[in-house]
Amino acid sequence: MFNSLSDRLTATFKNLRGKGRLSEADVDATVREIRRALLDADVAVPVVRDFAARIRERALGAEVSGALNPSQQIVKIVNEELQGILGGETRRLRLAKNPPTVIMLAGLQGAGKTTLAGKLGKWLKAQGHSPLLVAADLQRPNAVTQLQVVGQRAGVAVFAPHPGIQSEFEAPTGNPVAVARDGVAEARAKLHDVVIVDTAGRLGVDAEMMQQAADIRAAVNPDEVLFVIDAMIGQDAVNTAKAFEEGVDFTGVVLSKLDGDARGGAALSVASVTGRPVMFASTGEGLDDFELFHPDRMASRILD
Ligand code: GDP
Repeated sequence: MFNSLSDRLTATFKNLRGKGRLSEADVDATVREIRRALLDADVAVPVVRDFAARIRERALGAEVSGALNPSQQIVKIVNEELQGILGGETRRLRLAKNPPTVIMLAGLQGAGKTTLAGKLGKWLKAQGHSPLLVAADLQRPNAVTQLQVVGQRAGVAVFAPHPGIQSEFEAPTGNPVAVARDGVAEARAKLHDVVIVDTAGRLGVDAEMMQQAADIRAAVNPDEVLFVIDAMIGQDAVNTAKAFEEGVDFTGVVLSKLDGDARGGAALSVASVTGRPVMFASTGEGLDDFELFHPDRMASRILD
């Protein structure tokens, strides 16, 4: 991901090397190139516009003295702005003072929520926590079974509405809000210190799904609501993210499928339009393909 954006930006900055001073025309030409590179990487148009305007303003106002030459100065500005968009500092999970910490996952169907539940569970377990996965996705046939399988592979306990294997073609019955609430009660009773609530998604945003997610949020009062988004989604990312921001007021973003050939724009767009930090990156189907997201490292990687 970001490879072509990275190449384009590097080439743009190369053109500035050796220049003692940047004219306004130099800055404008550079900003134009940055804008094109971001648009080609699928970053949303309003995000690109704001970003370009900030770079231009800062580049024109940059102090000429200092240890950096003009091209280094622009690289530094772009780096800082990219890092800012991606959430600034690395944002770690907020753990509740009184356990259990409740983490709710939200996002469209296929975004990678169920897989993430397993990854997050395994990762937390390795840090000495005792997580419980809660299967509150009762919409998709097989979702409960899938979470049970993921939990088993991760070595993490799963709370499901009713045990056993469902029919592959039939959605489990039950009330997802009650399941989520019961899951948290179960965690409290069995001394799990983190609860990860998997919720239902649809292929597109719809009112009923969003209401269900909002009801679950209200019922379990989560410490974190993680919005999981497929990095391949491209320009649709902004509308989807805004709908979830309004619907469930998420606290952090998880970018999934970063191992694919996504151009990376979704990542920048979602974080920028919602102002929520990217917290984790999912980089494959395996349970270990998962990492804490570091905005500074990602920004540096883009500009490498
Ligand atoms: P959910 O509907 O949001 O629960 O999504 P799932 O967790 O079921 O994931 C949908 C599909 O995407 C599954 O086939 C997963 O194996 C796959 N998947 C999830 N995360 C990743 C990832 O980071 N990279 C890749 N390549 N595939 C992923």
